[in-house]
Order: sequence, then C-alpha cells, then structure tokens
Amino acid sequence: MTVTPGEPHTSRDADVRNAYAADASGLVLVPDAVARPASAADVSALLAEATASRTPVTPAGAQTSTTAASITDRGVLLSLRAMTRVIDIDVTARTVRCEPGVLVGDLKRACAAQGLLLPLDPTSEEECTVGGAVACNASGARSLRYGATRPHVRALRVALADGTVTELRRTALEKNTVGYQLAHDPVDWFVGSEGTLGVVVEAELALLPMPHAVVGLAVPFAAEQDALRFVVAARDSATLSPRCLEFFDVRALAIARGAEEGGRWAEGAQAMVYTEESPRGDAEPALDDWLALAESHGAMIDDVRVFEGEGPLREARRLRHAVPAHMNERGNARRPFGGRKVSTDWAVPYAALSRALQRARAFADEAGIEQAVSYGHAGNGHPHQNFIAHDGDELARIQAVVERTLREVIALGGTVAAEHGIGKIKQKWLALQMTPLQVGVMRAVKRELDPHGLLAPGNVL
Ligand SMILES: Cc1cc2nc3c(=O)[nH]c(=O)nc-3n(C[C@H](O)[C@H](O)[C@H](O)COP(=O)(O)OP(=O)(O)OC[C@H]3O[C@@H](n4cnc5c(N)ncnc54)[C@H](O)[C@@H]3O)c2cc1C
Repeated sequence: MTVTPGEPHTSRDADVRNAYAADASGLVLVPDAVARPASAADVSALLAEATASRTPVTPAGAQTSTTAASITDRGVLLSLRAMTRVIDIDVTARTVRCEPGVLVGDLKRACAAQGLLLPLDPTSEEECTVGGAVACNASGARSLRYGATRPHVRALRVALADGTVTELRRTALEKNTVGYQLAHDPVDWFVGSEGTLGVVVEAELALLPMPHAVVGLAVPFAAEQDALRFVVAARDSATLSPRCLEFFDVRALAIARGAEEGGRWAEGAQAMVYTEESPRGDAEPALDDWLALAESHGAMIDDVRVFEGEGPLREARRLRHAVPAHMNERGNARRPFGGRKVSTDWAVPYAALSRALQRARAFADEAGIEQAVSYGHAGNGHPHQNFIAHDGDELARIQAVVERTLREVIALGGTVAAEHGIGKIKQKWLALQMTPLQVGVMRAVKRELDPHGLLAPGNVL
C-alpha cells in the first residue's frame, strides 16, 4: 500500500492500529493504517487519495458494531470520532444538525435541554455515534413508537468514494411518479448502508416535542406464553399507547434482578414485559387499562412495578441494559477457551414471536446446548437471543442452531437481522432472505457509487 491518505491525520503506528482492531463482534482485524480526520474536507481529501491509489477505506464511529462492520484488515480504518460538533439545534424547525462522531446519548441530552426529543434509541446510545446509528439504521426499544433511525434523517452530507462531498435532502413531496421509487430519495441509499456507499460527514435529524407524560410498567408473569399473548394484545389495543414493549424471559429477568440491590422482585415470575405508556396529545396515561389487560392475561398483578419520573425511568433503562452488558462479560470470559457470546437479532411479525421462540428453543434442546437468554423488542417481534459458547466446539453447535432458527424465521415471514445489520459476520445469511435479483440490484447500486469497491470491503455484499 503506497497511499498516505489524509496526512497528518493518518497513523501506521502498531499501537494505534491495534487500538482500532476490535468492535463488539469479538473478531479482531488490524488495519494497515488509521485515519482520524477532523473535518469533512479531511475526509474528502483522504477518499480522493485512496481512490487514486485504490486503497480500501472502512469508516468507523465508536466501533460498537456486533457484526464486525467497523473493523478491517484491508487498507485504512477511517475513524470519525474526532468530528463531534453539534452544528445547530433549530427549535422552530425541530431539527438538529451535527457531525458524525457525536455520541447519540450526548446529542439526545443537548436536544432535551431545548425541550426536544431525538427519537433515535439504540440501547448502546451512550457508546455509539450518530454516524454509526445512521449507517446501521439503528433502532431500539422505543422504535416501537418512533421507528428506526431512517425516518428521522432529514438530510445528509456525504463524502462519496472519490472524495466528492454532496448534500442530500429528503423531498417533502407527497406525490411523485418520476422514475423508480428506489431512486427517489438518495438519503435512503446511505441510511443502513454500513459504510459501503459513502461516508456521512454531517447529519440533519428531525426532533419531536417531548412527550408530556411517560409511565413505565414492569409486568411479571408466571407463564411465558401469557407474557407473549399480553404483548400481542397490547399492540393490537385501540386504547393503549405503548412506546415500547420489551420482553424478558426467565433468564434475562434473573440478570436484571441481579443488577438491583436486594434483587428479589417478583421471584416466582417466568417472564416479564416492560412497557412505557406515553399517551398522545394531552391525555393521561391509561394505567387502569394496562392493569386490566395484564390481569386478564394472567399477570402477577400484585407485583406490577411502576416507574414514574426521570430517575426511575432511567433506572428501568439501566436494568434493561444490564442484560446485554452481563452477557458480553460472560462471553468475553470464554474467549481464552475459543468461546464467546453469540447474539441474534432476527425478527418475525409480532404475532408469530411465541411460535418462533418455541422453535428456536426446541432446536437448542435437540443440539444439547445451553438455552439462550432471550429478551428484547417483543412489540416488534424482535427478541435478542444471547448464547454463551464456552469453547470452540460449542460455538460451532450454537452457530448451527442459529442458522436453523433463521431458516424457520424466514419461513415465518421474518428477517435475519432486524437491528444490527449484516456487517461481515452475517453475510452468509443474506441469501436466506434476499433473492439473487435483490442482491444484484444492491450490487448495481454499489458499483455505481463505489466503482472500485473501496468502501468498507466485506460489509453486506
Ligand atoms: C451492548 C450493545 C448494545 C447494542 N444495542 C443496540 C440497539 O439497541 N440497537 C441497535 O440498532 N444497535 C445496537 N448495538 C449495535 C451498535 O451499537 C449500533 O449498530 C450503533 O449504531 C453503531 O454505532 P457506532 O458509532 O459504534 O458505529 P460503528 O460500530 O463504528 O460502525 C457501524 C457501521 O457504521 C459504519 N459507519 C460508522 N460511521 C460512519 C459514517 N460516519 N459514515 C458511514 N458509515 C459509517 C461503519 O462502517 C460500520 O459499517 C448494540 C451494541 C452493543 C455492543
């Protein structure tokens, strides 16, 4: 490799390269060089030079990717972490414009200080960047109400593979019959493109008014099936306004309990549903309706817990986050033995979740592996299953179970990756879900935007 892109922002120092060699996937890929630009102009110059010398460039935010999308052993790792300016919060237009390296949690607080809600909601918000959230179309618990990142992206400034910087703005048109729909809104090409089509150097995001009332409810159940039926009923209800519907199986519940002092809440429960009721307009939270629905679905009604106010709601979020954090620790402890955490993010239409989980568990039993900890966004039919592979042998058996589950998920009308993208490690499953024709169209878009195949090689395609 002869390129020295973006000097003086590029380093070939081994310590620096190693510092950017891991993300949350468990893989380690050491780049040839690390570039840490301070501005869009730096990014543009670096990409122009990389194109001239045909050097691959992989953009990276905070490297919390679970799919090895933000690491590479080919060419330059382009870290956007130094570009952290919040450029403008426009309270009247309800938009925020920022550079890609701002952490989502920091941006949410900056917007909240102006009385506005940034609806992006990955659980990893305190660790991940806006650029990463845009590039992965990140979502989370509250995406049940607000949707994933995509609908909130108003405009993007993108550096293309050859270094050209272009501003893209969503159209406000409500009717449009010009050309193919997939070309109507170029902003959509880059949201969820996992660094393969361009580098986001600025993003403008839409903001919402702060909800006037939010109440969290943790509803324990003695039977998991009742909890899952409750989720479907809550989703279908005409009177309730949940902004999230999170499910914890008995194992996930035990971890969340363990993260609390005392930790003895609802001890007989086999499952729990956490919801946040947030009525639209000026209405008051429909707590009585929630309790009636819970009771009619066999909830342990005396143990229902209410989280009201900023502190308690933050605590509920902390307990939710304790589950993946705990599983990451367990997985990391098995690395010296060839094991690790294996995490799924498949989803099915929400009414099919109970069936999908039953099948997944049956496959695990048949393979003789420890059951996964299952938790997450049941309201979207989207659980996370976290397995712990104690060694390399168990890892192979878990991966076979996951693949069998994914085939079942596709048969139920689902997706192999609802949240974390495809990256490098889920690429093998792309063909389970997409036809050769769909993959061909994606390849054509990639060729058009990145003709030399230099951006984030190995991601997605
Ligand atoms: C404990 C934990 C919990 C998580 N919870 C969630 C969750 O609830 N929801 C969810 O969606 N994800 C979750 N994730 C995954 C991850 O946090 C998200 O995908 C996040 O959006 C990635 O942001 P990042 O800044 O870390 O990006 P990185 O990991 O650095 O990069 C991710 C992808 O984005 C690309 N990229 C980064 N910045 C840019 C840019 N400026 N321009 C172009 N491409 C770019 C990279 O090339 C890569 O393909 C979780 C991860 C962990 C470890």
